[in-house]
Amino acid sequence: MKVEKDKVVTFYYTLSEHQGEPLEAGDQIPMAYLHGHGNILPGLEEALADKSVGDELRVVLPPDQAFGERKANAVQRVPIKHLAARPKKLLPNTIVKVQTDSGVVSGQVVKAGKFMVDVDLNHPFAGKTLVFDIKLAEIREGSPEELSHGHAHGTGGHQH
Ligand code: ZN
Repeated sequence: MKVEKDKVVTFYYTLSEHQGEPLEAGDQIPMAYLHGHGNILPGLEEALADKSVGDELRVVLPPDQAFGERKANAVQRVPIKHLAARPKKLLPNTIVKVQTDSGVVSGQVVKAGKFMVDVDLNHPFAGKTLVFDIKLAEIREGSPEELSHGHAHGTGGHQH
């Protein structure tokens, strides 16, 4: 069986920054998605098409195919009381949730004062070229329920 539309694909991966340290290791935890439904980055989905169980591949995605370039104007000064979720201490690089006009978004603390905090709303991986080292673990047919939801269920997929 090959990876194609409406198949549930399970893989292990390590995510690194190009010529850098690993950012995320999913080599212990499988990730499952429904192929052809936009569940994962388009560049990853494209690279996985037609692959088989046991295949290993390295996918390099420049920022424009991953999480975009960093935007200088994405650092915003917001009142601390407007944070949707806030840890006890607002140390630099802490992830916080900020209420914006377009909903709640995650950001990283740049610096915090007594009442105001500067939050970088760029995606943490923005501006990075990402390298995914992938090992394809399983391919199966999507169930009718998965197809109607548009995502994979079970281990590595949605749990609900
Ligand atoms: Zn579902």
